[in-house]
Amino acid sequence: MAISSQVSAERVDETLRPIDLDDRGIEAMLEAADIPALVLALVHMTGDLGLIRGDIRPLMEFLNPDDGLTDEQRERVKAQAAAVLAQHRDAPGAFYMPSDAELREMLSFLVGKPVPDEYAEFLTSELSLHGEDPYAQPDVEAVSASQRANYRVLVIGAGMSGLLSAIRLKEAGIGFDVVEKNDDVGGTWHENTYPGCRVDSANHVYSYSFKPKDWPQHFSNQKVLKQYFSETADEYGLREHIEFQTEVLSARFDEGSGQWQVTTRNARGETSTRNADAIISAVGQLNQPQYPDLPGLDSFKGPAFHSARWQHQVDLSGKRIGVIGTGGSAFQFVPHIAELAESVSVFQRTAPWIVANEDYFKEVPTEKHWLLRHVPFYAKWFRFSMFWRTAEGLLEAVTADEGWNRPEESVGEANQMFRDALIENLEMQLGDRPDLLEKCTPDYPPGAKRALIDDGKYLASLKRDNVHLLTDSIDSITENGIRLKSGEEHEFDVLIYGTGFKASSFLHPMSITGLGDKDLQESWAGEPRAHKGVTIPGFPNFYCCYGPNTNIVVNGSIVFFSECEVRYILGCLALSMSNDGKALNVRRDVHDRYNEWIDEGNAGMSWGQSGVNTWYKNASGRITQNWPFTLLEFWQQTRAPDAEDFELV
Ligand code: NAP
Repeated sequence: MAISSQVSAERVDETLRPIDLDDRGIEAMLEAADIPALVLALVHMTGDLGLIRGDIRPLMEFLNPDDGLTDEQRERVKAQAAAVLAQHRDAPGAFYMPSDAELREMLSFLVGKPVPDEYAEFLTSELSLHGEDPYAQPDVEAVSASQRANYRVLVIGAGMSGLLSAIRLKEAGIGFDVVEKNDDVGGTWHENTYPGCRVDSANHVYSYSFKPKDWPQHFSNQKVLKQYFSETADEYGLREHIEFQTEVLSARFDEGSGQWQVTTRNARGETSTRNADAIISAVGQLNQPQYPDLPGLDSFKGPAFHSARWQHQVDLSGKRIGVIGTGGSAFQFVPHIAELAESVSVFQRTAPWIVANEDYFKEVPTEKHWLLRHVPFYAKWFRFSMFWRTAEGLLEAVTADEGWNRPEESVGEANQMFRDALIENLEMQLGDRPDLLEKCTPDYPPGAKRALIDDGKYLASLKRDNVHLLTDSIDSITENGIRLKSGEEHEFDVLIYGTGFKASSFLHPMSITGLGDKDLQESWAGEPRAHKGVTIPGFPNFYCCYGPNTNIVVNGSIVFFSECEVRYILGCLALSMSNDGKALNVRRDVHDRYNEWIDEGNAGMSWGQSGVNTWYKNASGRITQNWPFTLLEFWQQTRAPDAEDFELV
């Protein structure tokens, strides 16, 4: 086929490296290829759309790593790729860029079904084949450069969302400062340093769209992630804008000036007040440690600490350690401390669901790195394939069927199938330990609380002779350890609280005062809500990243959400600036309608149906954290603000 539309190698990807291997070397690398991504890379290298119109039709299912192709088909693709790459090595040529219709055909090939109309724009933009920026906010350009430069935004926090906000504000030429309570960037990846800490979203999607990385691990550890955010701060020249060790104590909206007056405290304990036209809160949801509400908490005489405040100076070797909690944090550190300690007793209140993933602890192999770096277009399609796999993810498997009535098991047919698969995995791993199997089998539907991802490491650690899983209720903390309601007392040298965070206490402990001297926490009265998770009536020009109901638990990556939120916030800032700097106050009726829709959505999900304890809910049982819909829906919701949703203050 003639190559009708061509671009040079440099335009494709400036980080792309020349092919540096002989034929045998190329063949060896191709053994690790993701075949659907490779086929699409081949289309660019050959211009041959026949490659996706023949018998090769991949399957794409979230939990199923198998692409559904036969060995013969895979070998055929690899052989063709080897020849094309060798040719490209010897005589580098131009690449084929498909028309819109052809691109849609390629997307459909990858996702294994025709791409629905409403998805086409979203997916094309996410793929960013021509290097376009999918989360840029074009509305900003309508505001004059001087107006942008004179506007002042204060960003609170220099974690994933705060850095992202700063990058976008800087690109847009909007004046901004960042305050960060810690002494470095990275947020959760700076604070959580417990052994075994790593991300549980695939790293190739847990990264900024504009800063893909050739990740060393499929699910990188804390050090790698911290490094990524540190490098980002350096690369984008953000550190000079960040005041470290500076904590926001309060922010008050001054109705006279239409500005926020923000009081901060620095490392020396000095307080000062500054003005800002707008505030972006990027303080995270899982930031303030939650200690267990148990009597005697202060009475324990040995070292005791929270997983997010790990005391590395405490030597755990040969110690008797008590761990409270079996959530995402404890399940990561327990296998590590079990290798050092004399004994580890894990106190479990609710058994977590565990989703198996054999790549969870694996390094990305050399072959995969080579493919990502050297095969033109492969990295783009590979990342996109990972994005798609998780775009809808397990939403269907955690959606309730009407009339389904098995509250301790499942909320619907798909959920029951999901449960059966998870139970099968538990039985496979704990079949030889019926005592553990019983304790580790949850009595609530999958998805009702956050599942853990593991390749068997945690369950294997529970089988160790020096690890004990206790499920009796705790009565209190004592001088020497933990007393159970049964009266039994367990003595420990060290206590570790893997008891999570004050997730529903959004923005705690800052004091935020809006219109009419209204305090935010009083106005919420324990029911945090926001419009699109971002704006709150009565708090003009106050914008949240990762605010109420923007947490995703079974689909996508939280970085995607932040990118959408920041694009929306920049649209709000542009709207405010183009209205003489007047502040935007979201309309109460718009906000309320939106929240009814969110509540209805959550009521139909596993987490909205089950009564199990979870940080997704507040004290009254409302789901305050989760987004119940698709990624597409959030992408559409947050493309740009609708001026009709706001009144000007
Ligand atoms: P968590 O999921 O909220 O787990 C807290 C644990 O402590 C639960 O097992 C809870 O029991 C238990 N607990 C709390 N108070 C207790 C009490 N008074 N008595 C007995 N048990 C008590 O907290 P987390 O493990 O820190 O994880 C929080 C979230 O952070 C995760 O869900 C995840 O979203 C994120 N995270 C992610 C990663 C990752 O990316 N890999 C790692 C760590 C954390 P109940 O279940 O009965 O409430």
